[in-house]
Amino acid sequence: MPDLLAAHRHTTNNRAEVEASALCGCCYCMQTFPPSEIVAFTGLDMDNLDDPDAADAETALCPRCGSESVIGDRSGYKINAQFLGNMNEAWFQRTIIHKPRPKP
Ligand SMILES: [Zn+2]
Repeated sequence: MPDLLAAHRHTTNNRAEVEASALCGCCYCMQTFPPSEIVAFTGLDMDNLDDPDAADAETALCPRCGSESVIGDRSGYKINAQFLGNMNEAWFQRTIIHKPRPKP
């Protein structure tokens, strides 16, 4: 699924792209919404505190569920239920893509 892998890159550091889009969607809750509904962006998180580039990165947060899984149609992908469903399946329902979490 190289398409979905490529599409996933558009869900991070995507503020400019999202704001230039007419329609955005969330791969986690599979809702669609205009970019004007997005009120929060994030850069740093616990995984990249030491990365100087991360402070400038701005990743859209889903206005419906708060997930960092927003993609805009400016990415070149058609934002619809089918696409979001495919993304959701690939990223949230298949463990083969996720690295196993280290045991505490
Ligand atoms: Zn969502």
